[in-house]
Amino acid sequence: MAYVISDDCVCCGTCADECPVGAISEGDGKYVIDADSCVECGTCAGACPNEAISLPE
Ligand code: SF4
Repeated sequence: MAYVISDDCVCCGTCADECPVGAISEGDGKYVIDADSCVECGTCAGACPNEAISLPE
């Protein structure tokens, strides 16, 4: 299960810089995580200054 980025994303790009597998890219109005590339390390969730990244419930 890949991490997901919520609408709280402000497109700062911090997560994309931190992802070790390059799974995060800029989408339409917010950043998006490629579910097939994500290895669920959680680095992005810890790096996001807006707490916009989490595992889906
Ligand atoms: Fe990248 Fe890890 Fe975040 Fe998945 S959980 S998008 S691999 S930083």
